[in-house]
Amino acid sequence: MAIERTFSIIKPNAVAKNVIGSIFKIIEESGLKIVATKKIQMTKAQAEGFYAVHSERPFFGTLCDFMCSGPCVVSVLEGENAIAKYREIMGATNPADAAEGTIRKLYADDIEANAVHGSDAPETAAVEISYFFNALELVG
Ligand code: UDP
Repeated sequence: MAIERTFSIIKPNAVAKNVIGSIFKIIEESGLKIVATKKIQMTKAQAEGFYAVHSERPFFGTLCDFMCSGPCVVSVLEGENAIAKYREIMGATNPADAAEGTIRKLYADDIEANAVHGSDAPETAAVEISYFFNALELVG
């Protein structure tokens, strides 16, 4: 299986709950390695750029307001099948549908404030990683 990198955001609602460490524990126990991480506060423009693919969706405005409503933790995760593995431990977008033990089941408030983001494909992972990190920050 290929070693991949994926991009993660611990969203403002989860940071506000003081569960960064609990989420990192789930990530590390899944076998994924945190190769870069930092706490940031996104501007509205940064949130809009990050979620540009959703700009025509009805939830775009409130999603971008939510994403810059408080600090986030952005990270790069690495491991075998990292993209699919992280999405599995995140759980479904809507926490009402998320499996027991997943990050969203544990820490999401609703379909918008759903605790975490994870890339959905290798191409989007590469774009999302380079949106927040430069090569010198990825230290394996
Ligand atoms: N979202 C929302 N309302 C919806 C669907 C999605 O607010 O009806 C938000 C939610 O925060 C989600 C993000 O938009 O994580 C991106 O949506 P996507 O469908 O890409 O889900 P994900 O890949 O994050 O599971």
